This record gives sequence, structure tokens and C-alpha cells, in this order.
Amino acid sequence: MRYFGFCTYACGLLTLAAFTSSSLSAQTAQQAPSQTSAPAVTSAAAQKTLAKPSEAEAPPPTRAAMLRGAYGPYRANNDLLYYHLDIRVDPEKQFVSGKNTIRFKMLADGTRIQLDLRETLKIDKILMGTTPLKYERDSGAVFVDFPQTLHAGQVYSIEFYYSGHPEEIGRFGGMTFKKDPAGRVWINTACEGDGASVWWPNKDQWRDEVESMDISVAIPNNLVDVSNGKFVGKTDLGDGYTRWDWHVHYPINNYDVSLNIGSYVHFSDMLGELPLDFYVLPEDLDKAKVQFAQAKGMLEAFQHYFGEYPFVKDGYKLVAAPYSGMEHQSAVTYGNLFKNGYLGRDWTGTGISMRFDFIIIHESGHEWFGNSITAADPADMWIHEGWTTYLESLYVEYRWGNADAIKYLNGDKAKVKNLHPIIAERGVNEEPGQDQYFKGALMTNTLRSVVNDDAKWRALLHGFYQHFKYQNITTEDVVAYFNQHTGINLTPIFNQYLRHAQIPRLELLFGEAPGMVMYKWRADEDNFAMPVRVGKPGEWQIIHPTTKWQWMKTSLSKDEFQVATDLYYVDVNKQ
Ligand SMILES: [Zn+2]
Repeated sequence: MRYFGFCTYACGLLTLAAFTSSSLSAQTAQQAPSQTSAPAVTSAAAQKTLAKPSEAEAPPPTRAAMLRGAYGPYRANNDLLYYHLDIRVDPEKQFVSGKNTIRFKMLADGTRIQLDLRETLKIDKILMGTTPLKYERDSGAVFVDFPQTLHAGQVYSIEFYYSGHPEEIGRFGGMTFKKDPAGRVWINTACEGDGASVWWPNKDQWRDEVESMDISVAIPNNLVDVSNGKFVGKTDLGDGYTRWDWHVHYPINNYDVSLNIGSYVHFSDMLGELPLDFYVLPEDLDKAKVQFAQAKGMLEAFQHYFGEYPFVKDGYKLVAAPYSGMEHQSAVTYGNLFKNGYLGRDWTGTGISMRFDFIIIHESGHEWFGNSITAADPADMWIHEGWTTYLESLYVEYRWGNADAIKYLNGDKAKVKNLHPIIAERGVNEEPGQDQYFKGALMTNTLRSVVNDDAKWRALLHGFYQHFKYQNITTEDVVAYFNQHTGINLTPIFNQYLRHAQIPRLELLFGEAPGMVMYKWRADEDNFAMPVRVGKPGEWQIIHPTTKWQWMKTSLSKDEFQVATDLYYVDVNKQ
């Protein structure tokens, strides 16, 4: 649906801001000299400073967080190629044992690499061929030493044997040994944040991913394991255990690697050539067949905006889990009660949330943003969560049109705190706060309003995803892409929303002279400049405020004069 259909003619008093795109320059054809009126800046209103919330110093990172978070020399000297996680899970003893085969290419000559495994788990041995390797454990890191120099450009493979009882940790437990509501075994993993090394040995960071992976899980014969990738087959091991084999054809985050062991029943469908597989507890089968029909519409919507589902060879799966949900790659886990909304609630308070299953839409949206495109450091996790929250609104737009999408997005405003910058500290495994979701989505919608051309915006979304798919990127990559492809210097806008606590505030000053209003942005970024629609809904004028005062004529009174705050996530201060 076309969205920016209303009048966008330029007011005769616009001042050229830092916007140079062709789409915007058409609106800024009639330029007047910048008005930096002296009387206005001395007004009490203009001198009012931003009420900055106190930003308490974050506590210093722990040694474990620094070892987890840093991309140190023993990580940077190698590039992951492949894992084969091959384990046995004993539900009764709540015990895991087995090995991860890790294949990697050296990028520099060296005799040491860093892997990770929580200290609660035992290292049984680490082999290269038949040679046992020495290692040193430090706060969750495992430094593996080689008897001879490994050479840059060469590929090596080691087998990392381990065993133990994984500790339950974090929001979803890391790896949990639970019972389903009927009292049967239910074992699941969900370890984003705490890290996959809570249950298996790997290079536990975000920057580097294997190119493919095999997952083999031996479990008692009566159980089913659903992991990521394509189901290869199962083998009866003859000792009461059956091994389930899955193959992941694509790069995968460590934290996306998942086990789901239970009494699952399976049903399937197709979307064109894409296999859709669903795994639920037997008593939920009928409910799931109804609720999971939403997966097709979700896939169609996101494929419309971004292109083909990223993991076609692995298929798309929804797997029941005892927590609300998680974007495990190609095996999205689901615990949303087979109800619309989020756990049956109107998540945004707009009524629109109740039209769809939040977990199916949100967690699956991560297949594009989070799983295919991954942030290189958790500090930049808004690339996952801000974008995926924005994807929810695209889903709404695809299904019900733009007006509902805007309504839905604006329901997020109440959840934004604006107490801390969205981007956290890099290199210390620090995850940003909740604003990365809602403020991230509202910022993205603001960018759409800045671009002010629906066709161009859709091309940008598609191009951005296609350019970075299967890559691990930083905020700087995102900003550079949008700057280049819009021809607009959006860096101050991204910086204001991502690197400062506060959102920009449009200062409007009436009454200096009849029929005019003074305006400027108050922002932390010195060169902040952003066009914004003002005036009367339906007859908006686009003005180009900077951080310097300008003025425009208006026939509207202070009370009548409005700002399109549903299209731009900004504060407004009328004086
Ligand atoms: Zn998410």
C-alpha cells in the first residue's frame, strides 16, 4: 500500500539541511537563507537543556565476559569452517557426553586457539588426529595448544570430547531437563546471551560462524530429537538409544544450535518448494494445525520484502518448547500457547497484536535478521531485534495495510525507556537493553519517513538484506549501506537514536511574530538534521530542521500546529 500519498510540497522557507538525495532535493528547490535568529536563541525555551536521565555507570565486565566478548588473538588467528556436534543425552542422569569436531582454517601462523566451554562441564580430551592436545581453562575459555605451529591458509580439524551436567542458566535455562505437561521427558536448549558453551564446546562468539554443521544426538529410543537443518535419518544404536542426524547447509550462530528432545509428533506442509515441518506434543496436534497455518502467510510476507527464505535446503520448522520462543535457525522454537498475541496478550495495546501469533511472526522474522544477517558483536544486537521488531510491522502492512502498521509500531512507544544508548559496549559480551527492540523499530520507521519514497524504501530493504545475507556485520555496515544507497548522510540520525539515550526533540517557538513559527532540533549529535512533516494532518509540509533556528510562515495557531510523530519517533516541545 502506498503510504506517503499526501502533499509533500516544500514550504518556501525551507533551509537546506544535510540532505542531498535526489528525492529530497526536489522538495528543497526553493531555498531561503538560513535563519539563525538571535532573539529566539536567547529565549528561555531555547536555553532549556535536555533533561538527561542519569546514566549510571555499568558495572565492570567480569573476566569471563571479557574472555567471551573479546575477539582476541587466539580467535582472530582462525576462521571456523565446520562443526560436527555428536553427543549422547541421558535424560535420567541429566547428563551430556560426546564430542564436537571443529574444522577451521588458520589465518595466521600460531600454536594456540581459543575455544569455550563452561567450567561446569568436564573436558575429557582434545585430539588432533590421535594426538592429545594440551589446554588451559580460564573462566569459560579453553585455550588449546598445538605441539607444532599451525600455518596460515591451512585447514585443521580437532575433536573436543566433553561430558557433564549442564547448569541451568539464563532466561530460558541454557539446557533444561524438564517434563512436559503429561510428565514425559522434555529437554530443550536456548542459550542466546549466556552462550552455547553452556552446553557444548565451540568458539563461542558472534563474529565467526561455521559454513555448515552436522548435529548427531543419541537419545532413548522412545524420544524424538529435532535440531537445526535437514533431517538426515536416524540409526538404532542397539543399546536402547537411537541417534538422530541433522545437517545444516548454511552458516549458523552457535546460540542457534538447538536440541529439542521429547515425545514430538510431526506434521508437514509445503510452501512452493520449501518444506515446512512442525513438531508438537501429541495432545497439541489439532491446535497446532490451526495455529501454525500462520507460518505460510509470514513466509510470504517476509519473502515479499526481503527475498527467498534464507535456509531453503534446511527447510522451515516450528518446534514446541517449554518457553515462549526463540529463533533457532530453521527450527524456530515455539511456546506461545497456540494463541494470538504474545502469550495471549495484546502485546502492543493497539488491538492489532491479537490478529496474529507474535512468536511465529517475530521469531521467524529472525531467520532474515539475526540468523542470516548476524551482528558481529552482541553490542550491535539491534540489527537482530530492532529490525525484527520492524519486520512485525511489515507483516502487518502486508496483511492489513500501512495505517495498521503505523498504529502497531506506535504501540511500541510506551515500551521505550530512552535511558541508555541502544548500542552497548563492544568486546565484553554485553547485550543491549530492551530499547533495541522498540526504539530500533521506531527509528527504522523514522528512516522510512526521511526517505519519503515507498518504492525506494522497499528497494532499500530488499537491497540491504540481499547485500548482507549470511554475513556478520556491524552498525557501521548498516549506516554505510543506507548512506550510500539513499545518497543522504544518515549518520547523525543513526547516531542520535543508537548512540545516545535521548531521541531528537523538535523545538517549536510560536509568538515571536504573528503567523510564523521558529524551529530547530535539540539533539546530542551536533550536526543532527532530519526532515519532518509538520502542520496539519493530510496537508503536511516537510521542513528540514537542523540544530540551528529557522522559521516558517504558518496560518496555524500553536494548538493547531502538529508534527507527524506517528511517522517520526521524535519529541516535540511547543513554546
Ligand atoms: Zn527477537
